[in-house]
Amino acid sequence: MQTAARIAFIGLGQMGLPMATNLLKAGYEVAGFDLSADALQKLVDEGGQAAKSAADAMAGSDVVITMLSNGKVVRNVLTEGEAYRQAPKGALLLEMSSSAPEETRSLAQAVSGHLRVVDAPVSGGVKRAVDGTLAVMAGGADADFSAARPVLEAMSARIFHCGPVGAGHAMKAINNYVSGAGVIAAVEAVLLGNAFGLDEAKVVEVLNASSGKNNATEVKMNQFILSGTFGSGFALGLMAKDIRTAANLSVSLGLSQQGLTQTADLWDDAARTLGGAVDHTRFYDYLKRQVG
Ligand code: NAD
Repeated sequence: MQTAARIAFIGLGQMGLPMATNLLKAGYEVAGFDLSADALQKLVDEGGQAAKSAADAMAGSDVVITMLSNGKVVRNVLTEGEAYRQAPKGALLLEMSSSAPEETRSLAQAVSGHLRVVDAPVSGGVKRAVDGTLAVMAGGADADFSAARPVLEAMSARIFHCGPVGAGHAMKAINNYVSGAGVIAAVEAVLLGNAFGLDEAKVVEVLNASSGKNNATEVKMNQFILSGTFGSGFALGLMAKDIRTAANLSVSLGLSQQGLTQTADLWDDAARTLGGAVDHTRFYDYLKRQVG
């Protein structure tokens, strides 16, 4: 059992709550904050403490974890009223949201001298957040990454140190480009097969035994799309944000990448059409409308 650190956990949503729960199971003291009273109560039910504000959670915490919708929200929460100064000098900030790398670098500069920053976004979805088997892609100085590792291990199965601050967030955006493009291919494959007269479930079964399989065919198509549950726990607007982050990164590096640009445009249009709050597997509805 781990007893050393007190952790402030800010953002107890679909991912944050199970991640904080796994920290509690590992023996950490967790003081959580979320705008939702319901989320705070769930943390208390798991054995955590409900803080009155982000600043309150950070006071006396050796580690601060943020799991919020994007980097702008993270920056506001940490810097408004200089809330981050409530954490002890030298505390470790693990920015686990999927944020844009340039925002993370700017945040690290803003809090430097007080917080050590490691960006440590995750992949694997709600199921793996619950199981404690997420993949973590981290960015930060070697010593800071080493200090973060035991905390990250309580939530994950694989941890990758990708480079300096921002490298984890760049890697996460790149991953979600591949994931989002995979959803497009899987959904269009099912719609095409169906138009020809193939059974949708048969298309998925054959893809999963063949070279066309991907994460969407393996863990999304039957489970959330063909079953009609659309309950993966990952919002469409968050996926669109991540792929746009990758597209912006590509442009900022002077690249011209048509596949990425078109993937980002399609997901953004789906978010505008369906609203960003629906489950990202509703992308199926969006493409189904388009085939006519
Ligand atoms: P979510 O919307 O379920 O959770 C966000 C939480 O932040 C909510 O509970 C909300 O009340 C809270 N919040 C918003 N503003 C706040 C503020 N100012 N102060 C305190 N709390 C505030 O989102 P999620 O699905 O848990 O995703 C969180 C992050 O993880 C996002 O960056 C997302 O892209 C990323 N992510 C999500 C998944 C997934 O499968 N859901 C997988 C990997 C990464």
